[in-house]
Amino acid sequence: MTIQVTLLSHSPAPIRSLYMAFRTCYSQLTPQQVAARIDDDRITEDQMREFIEERLKTGHASPLEQVWYEFAISGVSRAFSHQFVRHRVGISFEQQSQRYVTYKGGAFPYTVPETVRKAGLDDKMADLFEQVSGLYEEMVAAGVPAEDARFLLPNATNTNFKVTVNFQSLLHICDLRLCTRAQWEFRKVAALMRSEVMKVTPELGRYLQPKCGEYRMGYCDESEKDWAACPIGRVRPHKQVLFRIYDQYRKGEVAPLREEDWKAIEDVDATE
Ligand SMILES: Cc1cc2nc3c(=O)[nH]c(=O)nc-3n(C[C@H](O)[C@H](O)[C@H](O)COP(=O)(O)OP(=O)(O)OC[C@H]3O[C@@H](n4cnc5c(N)ncnc54)[C@H](O)[C@@H]3O)c2cc1C
Repeated sequence: MTIQVTLLSHSPAPIRSLYMAFRTCYSQLTPQQVAARIDDDRITEDQMREFIEERLKTGHASPLEQVWYEFAISGVSRAFSHQFVRHRVGISFEQQSQRYVTYKGGAFPYTVPETVRKAGLDDKMADLFEQVSGLYEEMVAAGVPAEDARFLLPNATNTNFKVTVNFQSLLHICDLRLCTRAQWEFRKVAALMRSEVMKVTPELGRYLQPKCGEYRMGYCDESEKDWAACPIGRVRPHKQVLFRIYDQYRKGEVAPLREEDWKAIEDVDATE
């Protein structure tokens, strides 16, 4: 099955909700007065966006919990779902049950990873699952409940979700799961969630990045070995690199510009 992620719904007015949440903290006005000023256009949409933009650069994260997104996610594997449900805060899950759903004729949908296909082992995988499917069906016909027949099913078996997640939690999930260290399937789901959010609130969606992104932490905190192997490592720094530069700076060791650097700066012809 193909992975599908659909945004079903979201906070009715995410920008207004966020603005109200931040503004309540920093204003002498009551939230009712702030709302009235939004309603009669004394506070414009542009002003709200501008204000939020500045707040998003800070670590004041709790207002972000007041905006939510609701997704339908289908065609993902149980290998993915084990990881997904490890997120405990700010996200509510409903997942297709293998107790209440019995696969008709034992035919369970499943995912074949690209690496298995490339290794030419997908036919063998299909043969094995055909056997699993047959035995599942035999068990169900013999009166074994679905909740026990499912003990046969592989991690590749597909499952579906309906989730509601607040923006702060979605940022955290993307921090971890858009990172190239995350599993490919989770990266795909997180990227699809991001593109759904981009369609309705691009000003918030662009903050959904791996943690090293310029709108997030800005640096990599994985091992230096992983950072060196990461394609994004070429454009985002590792935290040890930042500390080393800071240390050099404190010791006065940061290299001053050299004669040849100035030549490169001043020699317009050579740099064009
Ligand atoms: C690349 C990668 C590899 C992984 N490998 C493994 C593995 O080998 N084995 C394994 O078991 N898991 C593994 N995980 C899962 C990981 O350990 C977390 O369970 C998962 O990423 C959820 O992250 P979280 O706890 O930060 O998120 P959430 O549960 O969504 O938490 C959000 C934030 O709240 C904080 N928080 C939540 N609950 C509490 C609490 N009770 N007390 C204090 N703070 C809390 C979290 O620290 C986090 O900052 C891996 C994850 C990644 C991204």
